[in-house]
Amino acid sequence: MTTQLPGTLADRVEGRVIRPGDADYEEARHVYNAMIDARPHVVVRCAGTDDVVAAVRYAAESGRAVAVRGGGHSVPGFGTADDAVVVDLSPMQAVDVDPGARTASAGGGTTWGRFNDATAASGLATTGGIISTTGIGGLTLGGGIGHLTRGYGLSCDNLLAAEVVTADGRVVTADDRENADLFWALRGGGGNFGVVTRFTYRLHPVGTVFAGPMFFELDDAGALFEFYREYLPRAPREYGGFPAFHQAPPLPFIPEGRVGEPMAVAVSCWTGSEADGERVVDRIRQVARPIGEHVGPMPYTALNSAFDALHPPGLQHYWKAAYVTELTDAAIAAHLEHGPRVPAVSSVVHLYPIDGAAHDVAPDATAFGHRDATFATVIAGMWPDPADNEANTRWVRDYHAAIAPHSEPGGYTNFASADDADKVADNYGANYARLRGVKRSWDPGNLFRHNQNIAP
Ligand SMILES: Cc1cc2nc3c(=O)[nH]c(=O)nc-3n(C[C@H](O)[C@H](O)[C@H](O)COP(=O)(O)OP(=O)(O)OC[C@H]3O[C@@H](n4cnc5c(N)ncnc54)[C@H](O)[C@@H]3O)c2cc1C
Repeated sequence: MTTQLPGTLADRVEGRVIRPGDADYEEARHVYNAMIDARPHVVVRCAGTDDVVAAVRYAAESGRAVAVRGGGHSVPGFGTADDAVVVDLSPMQAVDVDPGARTASAGGGTTWGRFNDATAASGLATTGGIISTTGIGGLTLGGGIGHLTRGYGLSCDNLLAAEVVTADGRVVTADDRENADLFWALRGGGGNFGVVTRFTYRLHPVGTVFAGPMFFELDDAGALFEFYREYLPRAPREYGGFPAFHQAPPLPFIPEGRVGEPMAVAVSCWTGSEADGERVVDRIRQVARPIGEHVGPMPYTALNSAFDALHPPGLQHYWKAAYVTELTDAAIAAHLEHGPRVPAVSSVVHLYPIDGAAHDVAPDATAFGHRDATFATVIAGMWPDPADNEANTRWVRDYHAAIAPHSEPGGYTNFASADDADKVADNYGANYARLRGVKRSWDPGNLFRHNQNIAP
């Protein structure tokens, strides 16, 4: 076996190869979560699929692991790793929309902002994340939860096909007809199976939505959580919405003097008519009087970028995940104890509904692990100052420990932290054994191990 040096790798790729000592290495080795301090062997900014093939082959030849980076949002920082070959897909963001067929195909490093801007030009969208800077890659491969999940399913439910660079450096298509086992695993199993260089999605008519956040007194949090528990199972599918805890951000609709206070929050997204949206949101106003709100008609793209400024790159991140099949009174009581202690303006607790169209898909039809859940909870600690690491991670851990007895084992793989590696089997439940089989077929040497790893 010959081990090629990065210099020769540079000869083989069109994009930039960044090595220790290069002026941009410092920037290139870092990801969105500032707590991650890895020193990769090389970062390959891939200009296209051929570059990905060259980088994957180089990693295999030199006995190193691949760390795949799409949008870079992985909380455990899987898009960088010590001594790894980083396959950075960020230059690969071309989006082709076919309005007639209602499909779009996008490069593996595309962010939801780029994707949504391209599809919005035709009044179309698919389920993506709730902020625009997250990558379609990591989000879709882990499942993909967002404002449109109740109406149109998870992001992975809308995936029609993927172009994949495999561990042995081949380029294959995965869809219902070709490599169907791989296609099954890509829809929830994360980055375990190869580098997806192109994602093709089904689109839906989504243009202007009636949407936005409402902030409430903490005393109203219990009623709000109970409202969502009762309402969502029978709510029209045009409604995507979730209860949350936040600190009130410094925005004009928050009354003076209350910025920074912990509050209960309802975030809504209605894809039907404005009049019906007003009626649905009014139901929430009947539950409790908002302290401040910013709800109204807006382009879906505006909703998707509305929270971006709260989550700039360079924050410290520590997150935990949980699923519930039933949001019991005891679970709500645990939320009411810990949610109000949310310690930073960027930190959030969100309870995303898993129902509607996400429940139309059979539990074993894709690798996504918990179709029986009704809510996916994320306790997302995000704060600016490393001096506050201990206090903020403790809040996340204590909160998670309090809801764990009322939750399913495991959680949504994309909301888990690096210390959740022991939960991977639980994250997938009955689908785990099959995932391991697919991993053995496509990556028996575990070249793709910087992820919530499914060991072959
Ligand atoms: C601020 C913020 C908001 C979020 N909001 C949501 C949300 O609304 N809904 C939701 O479901 N999740 C959300 N997430 C979680 C998100 O889904 C995961 O962090 C996801 O991994 C991010 O994908 P990425 O491409 O940006 O990350 P990256 O760090 O680039 O990738 C993470 C991992 O995913 C895999 N991967 C990424 N791209 C590819 C590819 N093209 N081919 C193969 N493997 C790939 C690799 O294993 C990679 O290491 C959010 C995260 C953050 C930080």
